[in-house]
Amino acid sequence: MRVDFNVTIGMDNEIGEDYRIRMTIPTIEYLTKRGAKLILMSHLGRPKKNEEKEYKEEDKIQQYFTRIMDMETIKQFSLAPVAKRLSELIQMYNVSFIDDCIGPKVQKEIDKMNRGDILLLENLRFYSGEELNDSNFSKELATLADIYVNEAFSVSHRKHASIYGTARLFDKKLAGLNLKKELEYLSMVKDDPVKPFVLVIGGSKIKDKIGALGNLLPKVDKLLVGGAMAYTFLNANGVKTGNSPIDYDHFQWVKKALLKYNDKIVLPIDHIVTSQSFLKLKKEDSTLKEMKKKKKEGKQENANSSEFDLISSPSPSLLSSPSSSVSVNKGSIQEGLLGVDIGIETVQQYSSMISQNRNGLVVWIGPMGVFEIGLFRNGTNNIAKSMALAFWRGSKTIIGGGDTLEALKKAEVSELEVTHVSTGGSATLKFLAGDEMPGIEILNKMN
Ligand code: AMP
Repeated sequence: MRVDFNVTIGMDNEIGEDYRIRMTIPTIEYLTKRGAKLILMSHLGRPKKNEEKEYKEEDKIQQYFTRIMDMETIKQFSLAPVAKRLSELIQMYNVSFIDDCIGPKVQKEIDKMNRGDILLLENLRFYSGEELNDSNFSKELATLADIYVNEAFSVSHRKHASIYGTARLFDKKLAGLNLKKELEYLSMVKDDPVKPFVLVIGGSKIKDKIGALGNLLPKVDKLLVGGAMAYTFLNANGVKTGNSPIDYDHFQWVKKALLKYNDKIVLPIDHIVTSQSFLKLKKEDSTLKEMKKKKKEGKQENANSSEFDLISSPSPSLLSSPSSSVSVNKGSIQEGLLGVDIGIETVQQYSSMISQNRNGLVVWIGPMGVFEIGLFRNGTNNIAKSMALAFWRGSKTIIGGGDTLEALKKAEVSELEVTHVSTGGSATLKFLAGDEMPGIEILNKMN
């Protein structure tokens, strides 16, 4: 079973956010209870392959057998700590770990397995063949099992060996329960959205979201724009945006979208603004705190951030503290300042549009501001809380994009207070854009 256990691992081997691990548990339990010997395979991070430099293009065999040998890299990118976390989560099952993912040593370990046992293989990306979708590497993986399961929606947009080439070699290939759930919700959003449909989009990279936006704009009733990308929209609308980041590569696309969907697109009316130097200072401060936190315990989100938090009921007076370098700006933004969060009136407007969308659909992708810094997190926090309110009032609420789960946690909104939290970042956006999903398409192909 291909899973995506690509999680953050702290210096003390503590696992950070384990949502992606937890989402695979129903399928793990389903298969083991039915007597499967379950072999799990995943990648972790992007281990640097020193040998790639020496590798010759024509030498295919060499290529897939090229395994990372550098001990430092192996230690840094090993999935061993994940096996430990998985054991803790599913207590009743026996999770073993093996420090390779192909070859006789792995086969020997599999031969020893009893029905209901679970074996996690070492990081697939220790072999170049994984990302190259190498046919020999795919064959090696395929010889290990009788049935293939894809429970890794978040990597299903990639044509890698464990997702595509290996799956192709199986007669029996199945979708995991979470992958099925992802497809059901995201297909509904893409093809037949519940109405009224409100899409909330934020973050900074328009490039990543343009496909999904283009596909969904004809179907939405309202598009609420926040985050850094809002300034490109405002600027294209002729509003002065000071030193806020503008994405000129997609400026014309944004201009056209604004003309065509003028009645649907809602832009911020006020902003939290600051100077570039203050933002830089706060970012450095936040990185330092994050590092200290990781060193100390690996986990414990939010422990020190409350001193900057404006959460829930923002008041302009709060903005003079801890530094008057931050202020609320209505309308245009003056030179020398940049928008780092949606302002208080925008928060109120967006929050009521989300929470009052009764029995409709709200999809949220991307933070409303530089939410990593408590002082600029108010907009994101309130959108998270409004999503929960909409859910409690009967709306379907779906959140996607890597940062948005983090934002939910910071706002202390539970995953159970939304209809669906997608495990995919890029995969979710690509799926919504209608792009090819090799890992899913291969499941439907007969051999
Ligand atoms: P993306 O990966 O495109 O979803 O963007 C997420 C990132 O956007 C987060 O790290 C935020 O800090 C950043 N972001 C959101 N709003 C702003 C803003 N107004 N200015 C700069 N960065 C922002």
